[in-house]
Amino acid sequence: MLNVDDALNLIAKTVSTASPEFVSLADAAGSLLAIDVASPEDSPPFDKSMMDGYAVQLADLQSGEATLKVIGEVTAGHQPEDAVNPGSAMRIMTGAPIPVGADVVVPVEQSEIIGDASVKLNVDRKVCLGWNIITSGTNMRRGEVVLTAGGRIRPQEIALLAEMGLASVSVRKPPRVAILATGDELVPVEETPGPGQIRNSNAKMLAAQVQASGAEPVVLGIARDDLSDLQTKIDEGLQCDFLCLSGGVSAGVLDLVPSTLKAAGVEQVFHKVAMKPGKPIWFGIREEKSSSACYVFGLPGNPVSSMVCFELFVAAALRQFVGKSPSFPELVDATLVADFHQRGNRDVWFPSRVSIENGVVVVEPTGWKGSSDLRSTVTANCSACFSAGERRYLAGETVKVLLWSGSEITSKLPVDLKL
Ligand code: AMP
Ligand code: MG
Repeated sequence: MLNVDDALNLIAKTVSTASPEFVSLADAAGSLLAIDVASPEDSPPFDKSMMDGYAVQLADLQSGEATLKVIGEVTAGHQPEDAVNPGSAMRIMTGAPIPVGADVVVPVEQSEIIGDASVKLNVDRKVCLGWNIITSGTNMRRGEVVLTAGGRIRPQEIALLAEMGLASVSVRKPPRVAILATGDELVPVEETPGPGQIRNSNAKMLAAQVQASGAEPVVLGIARDDLSDLQTKIDEGLQCDFLCLSGGVSAGVLDLVPSTLKAAGVEQVFHKVAMKPGKPIWFGIREEKSSSACYVFGLPGNPVSSMVCFELFVAAALRQFVGKSPSFPELVDATLVADFHQRGNRDVWFPSRVSIENGVVVVEPTGWKGSSDLRSTVTANCSACFSAGERRYLAGETVKVLLWSGSEITSKLPVDLKL
């Protein structure tokens, strides 16, 4: 059976990075930049005032107080008409270009108008050259790379692109990920389950994971363990960039997903990985000349298996698709705080809690009871990896952990501060 690294390598070989497209800034939010962006100009493009006040020469302020002749006014969007010479001041507004000769701006709050054409300035501290002036190129220099490929476009990236005059930009759109739960026993979350039935929690969880990965979920509902229902809904899902099914990939008599996918033209890349939870995972690709490829994951039905397989494999495939590097999961080293007895011939990705204690990254396995035990996952924020084989891991040993999406490593709260 494949191990996790083999499976990740096969995913990396199979998934192609999507072609970039040009979109206007209005449509760019949430997409990923496809190229590095260098600033075409200095920012700010000219020396400008950061305050409403008076542009003057620092030499005139040596004594802390000066009465100067007001020679005019410059507002934002206009050019100063005169230069500032010794003994003179020009009234200036925030954002206006600094007149030639001026090297500081005294805030209006520190001024007092004297008669028709003079101003008395009072500076209560030792000011230095360039006070309240932002010089051209302070924020970014022409030619400097200010945005890098693969970064998500948030409101601040939109603003920076706009500032640089880039009205459209090369991006990769968030992939559309169809989610299809399968199983005769499933009812929608809004319904009360009858005898032998359970609620479809996986679809909600997977949609949230897709969203946390920056992709767009397309929830297709529930397919029965029935060939024709499965076929119809799989065909619908294949219209998206990715299709994630849950359930129906194990060895049960009604585990019809692999055969139905093959019949729908999806080529199997792998089935089953030596891991716990998640062993039955299935992965394939549907390529058609007339449309772009669809990457298909058959995730095991047990909720924790589905969740962990998404975090390890689907998230990596999504990163590769949008050109985010590295696409492989980034595992973190953490120190075990308790002994852990590992058994069996599969790597175990055990729901655990990683935190920072006295500056050290530590991890504590939860009391996880198995693939259906969702409850223990809410006390966890990662999977700690214990390699196949029988071995007692001792407290103090270092293990690798996979931080789950939406989680972060924070300092451990003292017991009496825990909510
Ligand atoms: P399967 O992989 O179809 O054999 O399902 C394995 C286990 O996961 C069974 O106990 C199912 O009832 C459960 N299961 C399957 N799909 C879901 C789902 N969408 N939500 C919650 N549990 C599920
Ligand atoms: Mg099933």
